[in-house]
Amino acid sequence: MDYKPLANSDEAGLWHIFDQEEDGIRESPLLVRDEALNTYVKRVVCNLIGLQCDASRVYILDIPVFNAECAPNGMVFVFTGLLLRTQNEAQLAFVLGHEFTHFFRRHSLNAYESRRDTATAFAFLSLGAGAAGAGVAVNLAQLAALGALLSYSRDQEREADAGGFDLAVAAGYDPRQGAMIWRAMSEEDSANPHKDKPSLFLANHPADKERLATMSQKADEAETKTHSDELGTQGFQAAVAPYRDKWLAEELNRGEFYESIVVIDHLIADEPSSASLQYYLGEAYRRRNGKGDLDSAIQSYELAVGLPDVPVAAYRGLGMAALKAEKNDVARDAFAKYLELAPQADDKAMVQIYLTKAGG
Ligand SMILES: [Zn+2]
Repeated sequence: MDYKPLANSDEAGLWHIFDQEEDGIRESPLLVRDEALNTYVKRVVCNLIGLQCDASRVYILDIPVFNAECAPNGMVFVFTGLLLRTQNEAQLAFVLGHEFTHFFRRHSLNAYESRRDTATAFAFLSLGAGAAGAGVAVNLAQLAALGALLSYSRDQEREADAGGFDLAVAAGYDPRQGAMIWRAMSEEDSANPHKDKPSLFLANHPADKERLATMSQKADEAETKTHSDELGTQGFQAAVAPYRDKWLAEELNRGEFYESIVVIDHLIADEPSSASLQYYLGEAYRRRNGKGDLDSAIQSYELAVGLPDVPVAAYRGLGMAALKAEKNDVARDAFAKYLELAPQADDKAMVQIYLTKAGG
């Protein structure tokens, strides 16, 4: 990471652009500054790349989509949407290992050289110029343009898969987790029937079935040699626990409920008795409001309210779904319970109206 490009080279130019971008990220309101979470992610980076991690800069950005990039100047950014989706440290390590391999092999330089005279490069540079050194907030348009500039070829993806796999396995992580996180991501993407283009990460990192098959095969081979089953679940869950409700709420606010339901289902597979996850699954179904969704929502909320540490909002959600489904008895009980448990709630007056509508 302490590598520097030759002065006046293409790479130096690209490096400079990203140094300016990095200044913008440092000032961005989207930057997650929490020390514990940053220390944790940095530790995973250090597990992967050893001594070189001293010079690495990791930025966690509060953006609810699956994404991580290692920019050509060596800065790494990780979106909170990725931290919501990875089930354990091993999965995070595979994604980061993949990104570092793009960086170490200087794939983005090749991508830039082949695109710098194109509209894509122009779009990025014109957005980037606005942010240069002025501490202007990094925005999604800029990041998307940056992503398009750095999108990789299928050969580069294969190299990054192989290199990332070797880094993660050498660091002692369970070799199976790479294929698992990639599969989860493509499941999420294909669940959405209204989608006309792949999500940010998949657009930049083209995936296909062959890559998944290769990764599973490599995992089989590695397993016979290493027998490593390090998942790092405990450390990972402790690091993300304080944020998960916030990230889930942000995930739902994207309004991509087909995708959110896949994401939450994956989390529930690991933690079937989490009241909070059942509540958010209920919210996703209720807000999607397609055929059969109200029933699914009611089922999830009812599971949630039967579990320890249920968020009070699960009663309100249950009431709203039941009212819509014309199950007034259920709605009445749920609204009454909500008002009893949250007498000071901001939406008390509104819930009172719903309760009256339900005949309470
Ligand atoms: Zn990639």
